[in-house]
Amino acid sequence: MIIEKALSMHNLTKAEIITILKLDDAAPLFVAADEARARYVGPDVHLRGLIEFSNYCHNNCLYCGLRCGNSKVKRYRMLPVDIIAAARRAKELDYKTVVLQSGEDPFYTVDTMVEIISGIKALGLAITLSIGEKTYAEYQAYKAAGADRYLLRIETTDKALYEKLDPGMSFENRLRCLNDIKALGFETGSGMMVGLPGQSIESMADDILFLKKLPVDMAGIGPFIANPDTPLAQYNKNNFELALRVMAITRLLLPDINIPATTAMETLSPEGRIKALQSGANVVMPNVTQTVYRELYQLYPGKVGIGQTADTSKSIVEEKIKTIGRTIGKGKGFRGEYLEKLK
Ligand code: SAH
Ligand code: SF4
Repeated sequence: MIIEKALSMHNLTKAEIITILKLDDAAPLFVAADEARARYVGPDVHLRGLIEFSNYCHNNCLYCGLRCGNSKVKRYRMLPVDIIAAARRAKELDYKTVVLQSGEDPFYTVDTMVEIISGIKALGLAITLSIGEKTYAEYQAYKAAGADRYLLRIETTDKALYEKLDPGMSFENRLRCLNDIKALGFETGSGMMVGLPGQSIESMADDILFLKKLPVDMAGIGPFIANPDTPLAQYNKNNFELALRVMAITRLLLPDINIPATTAMETLSPEGRIKALQSGANVVMPNVTQTVYRELYQLYPGKVGIGQTADTSKSIVEEKIKTIGRTIGKGKGFRGEYLEKLK
């Protein structure tokens, strides 16, 4: 009943979301989310080439392998010319968007970022940034240089938990950043980790409603994976199915947004990305980072695709997408494109 309501109305109360998150069998939820995905964003899977350009970070998030307190990581940063070369490689592989992701690395000043963004823009690619908390003026400069989208996960909407897991950071500032990003006209992405220590089912329901309220144009939802080199090492449990539920409900409530099948899902479950694509997701972000850097960019352990090259990452993903009867998106895959075409 609740699932049918969600599929037709795209609205649920917090209590209803909690009920679905606690169902014994979530199969009908996944079927409904797949149905909403088919109706609102169609069969296309949009590929975004991911460039992990620096693993330096001045923050110390307890869950993350790149945290500044982790002395085991060998740090690297790519120069603008190499980042632009990676984007060129992505273009050769026929990607229409690149996602630039890094730790919060002060090496990349506004001028440096503008240089990178302009260089990539000149290739005709859409650009998504995932580089953390900045000032309004910085976001504005990135937008003016041509960045199209910005991804900043809220991580959890439980303020007390957020501030415990992200020492020195404030929940209010995270919200301020998201509001600035939206106000500047970026396609705005947010999302969360599912299964953080101390995160309740109730707060996961709040997380979903938060995405709906903003609203986001993209939602990146992935299971929390304990990293042995972090203070959360001992919280080792498989949150794949729960993350899939959160993602599927998000699809039902925000039927026309872009939802990636996250790498973290693939890491925790064989064919996890394919399962996600069949439960509401419509985006995949294959890695185009040079193989030498991939193993150094470990937010969590066991990340898939570490030994692969950009070519093999792409062909593996494309092959799988075709076997489940889906197509590869030929456009830039902005929110609402599919519905526009249907008109
Ligand atoms: N520094 C930027 C982008 C890189 S981190 C930022 O923080 O926004 C990208 C995402 O990785 C984070 O938003 C977080 O949700 C996710 N992440 C970090 N550590 C993780 C872990 N142990 N398990 C699963 N996801 C993790
Ligand atoms: Fe840095 Fe992002 Fe990792 Fe936090 S989650 S430590 S901001 S890379």
